[in-house]
Amino acid sequence: MSKIAFFCIPAHGHTNPTLEVVKELIRLGHEVRYYSYDMMKEKIETTGAVFISCDRYDCQEQLSPKDGKRIATDIDFAVEVLVNSTLAMDEALLEDMKAWQPDCIVADSMALWGKLIALKLDIPFVSSTTTFAFNQYSSKIMKQSIWGLIKVLFQMSKAKRHIKKLQEKGYPVRNVLDIIQNDNETNTIVYTSPEFQPCSETFSDKYSFVGPSIAKLDYEVARDDVKTVYISLGTVNNQMMPFYLNCIEAFKDSEMKVIMSVGNTVDLSAFKGISSNIEIFASVNQIEILQRADVFITHCGMNSVNEALYYQVPLVMFPQTNEQKGVAYRVNELGAGVYLKSNTVTSIRNAVEEVIRSSVYKKNVKTIAESFYKCGGSLEAAEKIIMAIETATN
Ligand code: UDP
Repeated sequence: MSKIAFFCIPAHGHTNPTLEVVKELIRLGHEVRYYSYDMMKEKIETTGAVFISCDRYDCQEQLSPKDGKRIATDIDFAVEVLVNSTLAMDEALLEDMKAWQPDCIVADSMALWGKLIALKLDIPFVSSTTTFAFNQYSSKIMKQSIWGLIKVLFQMSKAKRHIKKLQEKGYPVRNVLDIIQNDNETNTIVYTSPEFQPCSETFSDKYSFVGPSIAKLDYEVARDDVKTVYISLGTVNNQMMPFYLNCIEAFKDSEMKVIMSVGNTVDLSAFKGISSNIEIFASVNQIEILQRADVFITHCGMNSVNEALYYQVPLVMFPQTNEQKGVAYRVNELGAGVYLKSNTVTSIRNAVEEVIRSSVYKKNVKTIAESFYKCGGSLEAAEKIIMAIETATN
């Protein structure tokens, strides 16, 4: 039996795929401690892992919703938050890791503190990457050249200050690239297929494209008699009332059923006189709804897209951040959905009708879904972690 420490940031999209991996590890007889934030406690504990709260050390909790958006769009700000969080947790984590002596650390690609404590204490490390894997090739085909931004950041004196602070605390970090990307020597789990990952052939065999890691439901989902449109902008940047109101207007006289998840910061009482074919929730069981849906209007978060493609639901894409634009670019390239041209009632209605009318999207979605079914999913991810431990001990 091995002892494995997981680290993640307080985001559902980064946490969800790891939950199935943790369940597999526990089923295989391993012990898991999961370092995360109180908002994730309940869902982490359902896996059987021991939850350890990072709230009291970290500065992430003091970030406003506006800051959350900034992290997704401003790499320098993101690096600053990650470095400050790492330094805030340094002593406590050092003590914990020395006392518990895990055989392996698995950290989300954004949970820098997990990766750096592993480096500092020379503990076997596996990166859990819930976005596309990122290198100079994959970034080139993304609409926004993140690689270009990194190069600028690389030369900035501010970034050098961050690195110096980490070095002073004994972290073997050479430059900003060590922080925001994995090199070809780092064991890295990516939750999509090699076919969907752009330029997957340019990554070393340390990268495992295990496919989506999706919770299984223990009940059958019945489909509705009418076409069903599911709408969600994810769990982070979802305060977009004008968009939701346009969706309601677009489908108010439609025969289609509409299920809309708006997040828990939007006031549901603001939706008045909604026609009976439209249901609005703060949050839904997305895995269930996708099994009933014929089209998904999405912000193109990587998890939402993986889950939709897995259940063969074509997409209408309304990406907001650079990362989401990268995912949308790939979906469009493979013909699995259409862009929402603008946030207007007519555009929304036309895009949904186009996706439902044409069989080509469904056919392309099926091809990607089949590439997912060939992957090993959460079990393959768990095996990769166990293999990293075995390699380090042999
Ligand atoms: N999700 C959910 N219910 C909802 C909306 C979202 O369970 O009503 C889940 C969804 O299944 C996915 C995650 O939240 O696993 C969202 O992650 P994604 O990467 O798509 O977007 P983010 O929220 O990080 O922007």
